[in-house]
Amino acid sequence: MAYSYDEECDYLFKAVLIGDSAVGKSNLLSRFATDEFRLDSKPTIGVEFAYRHVKIGDKVIKAQIWDTAGQERAITSSYYRGALGAVLVYDITRRTTFENVKKWMHELREFGNSDIVVVLVGNKSDLTQFRQVSEEEGRNLAESHGLFFMETSALQNLNVEEAFLRMITKIHEITSKKYL
Ligand code: GDP
Ligand code: MG
Repeated sequence: MAYSYDEECDYLFKAVLIGDSAVGKSNLLSRFATDEFRLDSKPTIGVEFAYRHVKIGDKVIKAQIWDTAGQERAITSSYYRGALGAVLVYDITRRTTFENVKKWMHELREFGNSDIVVVLVGNKSDLTQFRQVSEEEGRNLAESHGLFFMETSALQNLNVEEAFLRMITKIHEITSKKYL
């Protein structure tokens, strides 16, 4: 079930991190989840997840965010099952990781919920001298797929909170219309 009650919050939902290896997914997650950094794992399917509570209005939302634990090539349907959101990450200093966004979108369409909320994230914005993808290219790609977009730096903690919160706020908007 994608939407369920939990004793510590008004509701809990799942979101996933996707993108090529070494783009910064795990560092983004540890930045975002540090207020309750409990990195649990499901070794059987090669994933880790962390939680973060977010208050929106009078509701406390608990986001359970799944990370690949280095299994980027092998993740499939169980990873995406029930996820209401996805953070799709590329590295602005490695063009191939941006080109592979198409591949990740394809996988999302195949395995993800049809109304999954996706934020496209261009990470490592601190490495300006090595940039291979302009901010405009990232924004254009996001617009053409109807995704949110943000450049982040997990290293400098820039826009990390904003990127996750944008996704969480949108999910809250959708689910509260559907179920409440
Ligand atoms: P993952 O494989 O996608 O989970 O990527 P990791 O989070 O393990 O990060 C891969 C490498 O990129 C590590 O060496 C990180 O220190 C580095 N890294 C991650 N985020 C940033 C960032 O925002 N800026 C810089 N300069 N390095 C980063
Ligand atoms: Mg990782």
